[in-house]
Amino acid sequence: MSGLVMPPSDAGVLQRRDEIVAALRAIVPGEGVISDEAEMRVYETDGLTAYRQVPFVVVLPETVDQVARVLRYCHNNGVKVVPRGAGTSLSGGALPLADGVLMSMMKFNRVLDIDFDNRVAVVQPGVTNLGITRAVEHRGFYYAPDPSSQIACSIGGNVAENAGGVHCLKYGLTTNNVLGVELVTIEGEVIRIGGRHLDAEGYDLLGLVVGSEGMLGVVTEVTVRLLKQPDTARAILIGFPTNDDAGKCVADVIGAGIIPGGMEMMDRPAIHAAEDFVHAGYPLDVEALLIVELDGPKAEVDHLLERVGAIAKANNAAHIRVSETEAERLSFWAGRKAAFPAVGRISPDYMCMDGTIPRKALPHVLTRMQEMAASYGLGVANVFHAGDGNLHPLILYDANIPGDLDKAEDFGADILRLCVEVGGVLTGEHGVGVEKRDLMGEMFTDIDMDHQIRVKCAFDAKQLLNPGKVFPTLNSCAELGRMHVHKGQMPFPDIPRF
Ligand SMILES: Cc1cc2nc3c(=O)[nH]c(=O)nc-3n(C[C@H](O)[C@H](O)[C@H](O)COP(=O)(O)OP(=O)(O)OC[C@H]3O[C@@H](n4cnc5c(N)ncnc54)[C@H](O)[C@@H]3O)c2cc1C
Repeated sequence: MSGLVMPPSDAGVLQRRDEIVAALRAIVPGEGVISDEAEMRVYETDGLTAYRQVPFVVVLPETVDQVARVLRYCHNNGVKVVPRGAGTSLSGGALPLADGVLMSMMKFNRVLDIDFDNRVAVVQPGVTNLGITRAVEHRGFYYAPDPSSQIACSIGGNVAENAGGVHCLKYGLTTNNVLGVELVTIEGEVIRIGGRHLDAEGYDLLGLVVGSEGMLGVVTEVTVRLLKQPDTARAILIGFPTNDDAGKCVADVIGAGIIPGGMEMMDRPAIHAAEDFVHAGYPLDVEALLIVELDGPKAEVDHLLERVGAIAKANNAAHIRVSETEAERLSFWAGRKAAFPAVGRISPDYMCMDGTIPRKALPHVLTRMQEMAASYGLGVANVFHAGDGNLHPLILYDANIPGDLDKAEDFGADILRLCVEVGGVLTGEHGVGVEKRDLMGEMFTDIDMDHQIRVKCAFDAKQLLNPGKVFPTLNSCAELGRMHVHKGQMPFPDIPRF
């Protein structure tokens, strides 16, 4: 696991493995418990494949009662639990622990209710993101947040990570499209937060749970908002001679009061990788490419296409193509959607970073990133949600070259520091997980972090749910406030910590 330090394993739990597995089998019978090492290997990593750990045991509950009983058992017996959806997290959120139960929620795969009158769907957490749209599209509805991984990732994982996607610029992230959840606490209590109504009374606990990275409870049901498909959607493909021009165009479009349905940017390495892979018809003589989608009534879309085209020309656009058919629009997006696997073809390994910056800082950050790439001797390709300022630098490295992963990690950390330096944040949509855990001190003061941990402690005082993720501290809830992490500089650096 490179330099990543996880919480020390509990020797007592490891010794009691047979007893714990037997107790779990009594709660989840049949094939619901996997304890054979070879069979558990498929769970050893998530989308952040640089880190691996075979779990202590895997449990696949099928009912809320089973989830509650497993969590209660773990709470009473001091056993850690890592919730898992489809395992596509890019920040290591579902990375198992050697002494922790990995709770896979993928048997919770049913759409429970579709309520077109209230424009909501109630689904189990293992339903895939795209599965929700598939269930409602026959009536012209869809679920708006659309991570590129939508064919595989689960709505439970989306809730835990506050997932985003191309259309979130206009329609909001997961947090803006989830109306309610059922959550099981580590003590085995089943609570309902929000519902089919638009606003909840009291504290915004739903806002707290969305993005909580499996650390506050296990989500067993999700109520999502449904949207009507827009009448028209057309995309415009714009090539620029420099990243600066493209970055300026993004800021000018938003500054003109236009909120596109999607606004994505790719730099030269990403354009070439995507074009070689899917032959989307991208221009290869440009440094940066924007795909801007406008949606809504036809007259509005036509008008906005003209305005965006004019702004692009004023920013030195070298290439402009507007989609004339639905097939052409989809072909523009095909390259963008396949960009990650396309980059996988040009480098043995890559690490996908995720930081957010003010849009205005785009040109500066892209230039600095190229300078850093040269000094680290590694490649970097950029594919990202430009409209939101949400960067996804893909750092290219070769895990078989000793030291390459360490270099990639250092390069990634420098990129995230740069995001914070220009007024941005460490994450966009992939969560903190283990990937950005040790950088939390770059962004938050000791006091900020203490308050966040107090929230965690209110839900999980024994810190059994997904420990080792998000917070880089060693202290227990009782010790809160006694250990401080300042600007990433921890006291007593020689003490093993997570
Ligand atoms: C090729 C690729 C492209 C991607 N593109 C995007 C993108 O465009 N936008 C984006 O936002 N993300 C993207 N991702 C990242 C990932 O798909 C999302 O973070 C997604 O939300 C994870 O869902 P999952 O079901 O795979 O969750 P997992 O990876 O299994 O888990 C993620 C986190 O959620 C927790 N969790 C899972 N289920 C539950 C539950 N029921 N209750 C409580 N906690 C739970 C886990 O403990 C973990 O902390 C991409 C990933 C890949 C591999």
